[in-house]
Order: sequence, then C-alpha cells, then structure tokens
Amino acid sequence: MTSNDLLPTLLALALLTQACASLPATAPPADVRYSIRPVPRADRTTLEVEMGFAGDADGVTRIALPRGRYGVLGMHRVATELRAEGAELAPVAGDERVRDLVHASGAKVVLRYTVDWDPAAEPGSAYRPSVGPAHFHFFGRQWIVTLPERGGEQRFSLAFDGVPEGWSAFSNLGAGAGPFEARASVDAFEPLVAGGDYLTRDLVLDGAPVAIHVRGPFADVAAVADDVERSIRLLTRSFGSGGVLPHFVVSVTGRGDVRAGVAIDNAFVCLVSPDATPRDVLLLVAHETLHNWLPRKATIEEWRGASVDEYRLDWFVEGFTEYLARKALLEAGLLTLDDFVDAFNADLRELARNPMRAATLDEVALAIEERRYTNRHERLNYNRGPLLALRWDLAQTAAGRESVDVVVRAFLDAGVASGGAIPEARFFDLLERHGIDAYADYLRFIVDGKEPAPAPDSFGPEFEHEEQVVDGRATWRFVRR
Ligand SMILES: [Zn+2]
Repeated sequence: MTSNDLLPTLLALALLTQACASLPATAPPADVRYSIRPVPRADRTTLEVEMGFAGDADGVTRIALPRGRYGVLGMHRVATELRAEGAELAPVAGDERVRDLVHASGAKVVLRYTVDWDPAAEPGSAYRPSVGPAHFHFFGRQWIVTLPERGGEQRFSLAFDGVPEGWSAFSNLGAGAGPFEARASVDAFEPLVAGGDYLTRDLVLDGAPVAIHVRGPFADVAAVADDVERSIRLLTRSFGSGGVLPHFVVSVTGRGDVRAGVAIDNAFVCLVSPDATPRDVLLLVAHETLHNWLPRKATIEEWRGASVDEYRLDWFVEGFTEYLARKALLEAGLLTLDDFVDAFNADLRELARNPMRAATLDEVALAIEERRYTNRHERLNYNRGPLLALRWDLAQTAAGRESVDVVVRAFLDAGVASGGAIPEARFFDLLERHGIDAYADYLRFIVDGKEPAPAPDSFGPEFEHEEQVVDGRATWRFVRR
C-alpha cells in the first residue's frame, strides 16, 4: 500500500477467500445476486443496484448498508431509495447502518437501492469513491449492501447491466464486465466496481488476462496506460506470472490532490492526482503490483499478526517492495538513474522531516499500545526499508554475492513452498545464508532506530553526496558531480 504521507494509517483490505470465475451457464443460482446499472447524471454517476436472495427461515433478514474504510465516514448514507419486493423494510432502533427485512419464511426477496455519492463530499479523504458524469469507482464496501448475519461461505454473482454506450464497466472478479461468480464469506466479498469512459487495454500475460483501465485529466492517458503495461510486463518477467493469475485488473483514476493506491485481490486500484509525474505513477503501479508477490504470494508469518508485529517487519514487506520496484524500473530503463537516486533523496528528506525519525521499536510499540500510532510511525518503514535494501544490495554486489532481488525471490519461493509464509527465524536465517548481516542490521536500524544512511559512493562516481538541511535538521542528498 502506498499513500501520501498525510493519510491516516491504512489497514490491509480483507481477502476474497476463493478465486472467482465467469459464471458457467449450468451453475446453480447464487445465494446472493447483485446486478448493477450505472446511470450518468449531470455531476455524477449513480448506480441502480438490484440484490436478490432468499430471506431467512425465521422471517427476518438483517441487512447492512455500505461502509467506508480508511477514515471515509458516513458511507452508509450512500445507499438511497431502498425498496424491497417480497419483504417489508424496517428500521433497527439505535443503528442507522442496518435495516431488517420482514418477510414470509425463506421468501424470495429483491432489494433495490441507488448508490448516490456526492463527488464534492469528503475531499480530503484519499480513499473515498470517485464519481463524475462519465465514470464511477467504488471499492471495498463502498457500494454494497450485505447480509451480515449469514455465516459460512456464500455463492455470489455480480453483473453489470445497461452500461452506457462507449463505457466500460469492470470489477476485480474477472476479465470483462461479467457476469461473475465468487465464493466467499459475506465479510470477504467486497469487489471493486468501476466503469465509465476509461481507456481500456486488454493483455494476456502467461495465460492470465490482464486489463488496464485508465481515465483522468492526464496530459496523455495512453502514455499512462503504456507505463502501467510496461511495469506489469516487467514485473511478471522478473517475478513469474503467479502475481497476475488467474486474472488481473489495474485501474488508474485521476482525481483530486491525493495519491493513493491499494492492492486488492487480483487488482490494484490507484487514485492519482492529474499532476502526478509519469515517474510517480510508474513507481506506484510497480510497488502495488509487486505486492501480488510480496506479501500476497509469500510473507513472514509473524507479519500477519498485525499490530506491532506488522510494524516490526514492514521494513521488509513495504520497504523492500518499494526498493525492488525502483530497481526493476531502473534496470528496464523505465526510470532514469537520476529518478532512481531522487527516490532515495526523497526517503532521506522525508525521514529528516519526520518527528519520529529516530523512534526505536519500543517507542513505536508503546505508541501502538497507547493509541498514539500515526502515519509518521508508519512511514518509517517506507523510508528506512529502501535505504536498508540499498545498503545490502551494494554490499552483496561488492562481495560478489547474490543481489537483494535474487535473495527476495528465494524468500518468495520458500514462502510459496510453505503455503504462503515462513517464520521470522527462518526468514532471517535465509538472508544470512545468502551473506546478509540481516538480524544485526534489523536490531540496529529497526529496533534501535538508527538511520540506514547510504554510503557516499552508493550511486557510483557520477554522484556525490552533500549535506542539506531540511526543516532545521541536517541530512544528506545525492547530486550529480
Ligand atoms: Zn505497499
């Protein structure tokens, strides 16, 4: 996940529990069926949603209205004009985010509602929906009414219907506009639904359909799509096709003044300001795409424990993802050496500005415990991690040992072979067997909070490092000689 550094701490999106597939003609009916019709209006696009299911045997079925994440508030109000066929809608005292449907035992219920998001609402919230007269973009729970009391795996179907001429509509459930089927728990089913006048590009990479959708006031929309395509082709070549199977969707939506990206199942959603440079977009796309391997294909067991364990190991999961993205783009010629160097200058600058720059692990753990943990703590790993990876990579090369990306690939192989994760002790052991002094550096730079400043010759003879003062604090930057 990447975000501009003023965003609140972000949580990982829940995973769909099962892969999804196009609905075969012979499939039994889904437990819950959604049909979505986008309706363009003067300043926004609304969604007419039809949801069909069999009501509970006891004659009352609870529904939960849409929900926001990452600090988007009041999202339940996005569902308007609720009306039911085969049931009566009843409010639930004390909770406006849910309703009850009262019906005959097991009755067939059709619930219809309009998803109506005001494009001017919550301008500071990076992960709010994005709508306009020619597009819509909702992900996670932002559009969906659910049956929160239904336990176990459900069969869902989703289809777009009546998509305006010249528009595309897409989700992360499969290639094209559906219909799609998915098996997941109610909590895990939260597909991206988006569409409009997106530029759409369909590719097949190692047998997997990959769809790229781009829209926004970019100087050159096709050039953004080109960059996304290059970046995904490159990473698939370097890390194997596992990251894009069975299908992959990238959606880039230009909007507002914030830059935000989230890797969700089989997709990467990017909301980016129109003045973002091609380098910004490339790095964001490469970073998020790489998350399909790290941590989605393989990670460190303890990292999954969230809270302080996630923080403690995020220098690897986030920081090395960022480093590998930069390095892959540099090696493919998609990033110039100056852009590459600038990315590390930005790490040094951001650390200098960060009041938590010297925070030890104990201090961060206490901040988590006392609920004082902020984006400032979170960002430490995004800056320390790439600097640490650079140190190790240079040391490995100087000693004639395998580069950091080869070591990470070995880690991914070990993780995949162990079902998706290996314990922390094995992780450090693996790095050390490749010649990296990993645990000692972890103690120094993460536990003790020292800055992994790059050596003066880190970028070769063309660059020298000079002292600079950022917000009153001395740090380094690399400049061409
Ligand atoms: Zn990330």
